[in-house]
Amino acid sequence: IGLSENLSFQTETQKILQIVAQSLYTEKEVFIRELISNASDAIEKVRHTQLTNASSIEDSSIPFEIKISTDDEKKTLIIQDSGIGMTRDEMIKNLGKIGYSGSGDFIKNLGENPDKASIIGQFGVGFYSCFMVGHTVKIYTKSALPGSKGYLWESHGTGNYSITEAEGVSRGTKIIIHLKPSSFEYSKMTVVENIIKKYSNFVGFPILLNGSTVNTIRPLWTLNKNSITDDEHKEFYQFLSKSYDTPSYKISFSADTPLSIRSLFYIPSQHMEKYGMGKMEPGVSLFSRKVLIQQKAKGILPEWMRFVRGVVDSEDIPLNVSREHLQDNGLIQRLSSVLVKRILRHLKEESTKDPIKFNKFMEEFGGFFKEGVITDFNWKDEIAKLLRFESSYKDSSSTGVVSLDEYVARMKPNQNEIYFLSAPNRSVAESSPYYEPFQLKNIEVIFLFNSVDEFVLSNIGYFGEKRIVSVESKEAEEFLNLNQEKRSETLSEDEINKFLSWVDTTASDKVSQSKTTNRSISSPAIIIDHESASFRRMLKMMEPGKH
Ligand code: ADP
Ligand code: MG
Repeated sequence: IGLSENLSFQTETQKILQIVAQSLYTEKEVFIRELISNASDAIEKVRHTQLTNASSIEDSSIPFEIKISTDDEKKTLIIQDSGIGMTRDEMIKNLGKIGYSGSGDFIKNLGENPDKASIIGQFGVGFYSCFMVGHTVKIYTKSALPGSKGYLWESHGTGNYSITEAEGVSRGTKIIIHLKPSSFEYSKMTVVENIIKKYSNFVGFPILLNGSTVNTIRPLWTLNKNSITDDEHKEFYQFLSKSYDTPSYKISFSADTPLSIRSLFYIPSQHMEKYGMGKMEPGVSLFSRKVLIQQKAKGILPEWMRFVRGVVDSEDIPLNVSREHLQDNGLIQRLSSVLVKRILRHLKEESTKDPIKFNKFMEEFGGFFKEGVITDFNWKDEIAKLLRFESSYKDSSSTGVVSLDEYVARMKPNQNEIYFLSAPNRSVAESSPYYEPFQLKNIEVIFLFNSVDEFVLSNIGYFGEKRIVSVESKEAEEFLNLNQEKRSETLSEDEINKFLSWVDTTASDKVSQSKTTNRSISSPAIIIDHESASFRRMLKMMEPGKH
């Protein structure tokens, strides 16, 4: 029998292992869900290879299933799949490190957060979760690549692990967990059965517990939407997104022409990027006649919609579509365009149906929509309609924020522009000399308290026919001048000219031109149409950590 080799986990992985092993007292049971989901992924991969590749796979006659066995005497739990397995290199690559970008920042932020358990749950620590319950974990695995060797991977979940060649391993992966005394309950069949039913009911392959099948396979996206209960939706969402929250919205959409589509989308109640995590992966899986083509498929929805979780099934998509180049596929692009339109339309409807709920959703996810307005030219106008801003408009029935549509509906008859003002907070905005004339004339101004928003609005440029401009712009100045009654008391023309030329000479290095204004303001002078303020804000925005 081959050589045994000792290797170490990457540093960040070691830290995460520590956090996981120590901090998830209440949610320990999720390790079963994590291991079953890995087993299911591995079987999907081998099934896909078999359907699309002419070349054979190892042990091609073993059925696609997940076998779990409990041993109350030896205090072990075994989870075995007939999936794709791993080569030696794959084990080192996949099990030796945590593959998330930004895991360093994540560890730092987590340390200060009181709600560790739920965050780790959202984050999905995957395979490592078995060290919450096991003092020793052994993995026997053999890759589906023809002629592969079997291996034994073994670790105590501290710094190191070993890999040894092993005889008599069949295709797939078998994980043996030797339970810690504090976790002996997971060697009891009934305990494990309840956990499987709770988290893994929707796994697409049979799960056998000590020989009998436990899961019911119901692909919700293919069923009539009226036959699905809220609880089933929640369960399916949690299964898809590997999280514990309740989705804030669900969107189901089916069509037969021009493309066949069965789809089901969920919008989570919160997202992880705000904790300093790296960019989320796309959350939608692509199926064709219930066979998974690709999990977390890029290109089904635009990147800014990466917070949406769900399933899309289209029989028009061939099984062997290139998974690397899904985005470049014309069919996928058409599919994507139909789906984005549907999702945006649905959200628009939700925004009128329950504005308070929608505004709360926008508070959490608005950043993604702002990203969309900037990066997704095709849907810019539709996305802009969903954005919400604070404004000078006050109304006891209002929800505190306004949409651009609402702003436009309240515009003055001769007003052609949407005005915004950037300020650190509402009281600074309301006492700004730039705001004063607008307030006197009762003209609504959008208040931006976040420097990103000014960038976003400048990028939108026009909302329908209406130009979006700052209250500091010369357009705003012209509009105010038009709307001003002439004053009775004023300086003579001669006095005015003398004064202006004095300003021009005295401040020649700072001012390009000075002129009089008819705005009613209590400040003696203001600066208009200057780039410096917004430029400074832009620079500030570009500092790391300000986004
Ligand atoms: P994730 O599933 O999110 O990728 P995990 O920590 O759960 O993260 O698993 C890490 C990687 O280990 C997987 O991506 C996969 O490549 C590999 N892996 C884990 N379990 C199995 C298994 N049962 N069969 C084959 N590969 C596996
Ligand atoms: Mg996993």
